[in-house]
Formats: sequence, structure tokens, C-alpha cells
Amino acid sequence: MRQQIEDMKTSPKVFQATKCSACKHPLELPSVHFMCSHSYHQHCFESYAAENDSDCPLCLPENKNLKSNPIA
Ligand SMILES: [Zn+2]
Ligand SMILES: [Zn+2]
Repeated sequence: MRQQIEDMKTSPKVFQATKCSACKHPLELPSVHFMCSHSYHQHCFESYAAENDSDCPLCLPENKNLKSNPIA
């Protein structure tokens, strides 16, 4: 746990995004960051991801498509 927190503090990946993936405006705190490098304002994320509060709303539809349309 302690190690994970250190990684998040030092990893540039977490802070790569400078714009909210939902409203395209510059990010400001409070904000939500995902490992896929998508980031959102806290309030954008809450309205964007009403049904799911633990996954990136932009990447979620892709995952669903992959599962429902398997490449043979
Ligand atoms: Zn936003
Ligand atoms: Zn994403």
C-alpha cells in the first residue's frame, strides 16, 4: 500500500493529462485520474459515470464492445 502511494506521487503518467476528458477544459482540483491517462474533473466524472464510479467512462464502452463482439 505504502509503495503504491509512492508510485502515484512519482509517476508522470498520473499527471500527464492537463485537460478533462469530459468537458475538454483545463483540469483543476478536485480531479479524477485513471491509469489509461484519461482524467476528469470530479464533478464531470460524477455526471459522466452515473452508472459506474470505478472505471474510466471513456474506456468502458470499448471494453463492452470487445466483450460483446469477440474477434473470431
Ligand atoms: Zn470537466
Ligand atoms: Zn480511459
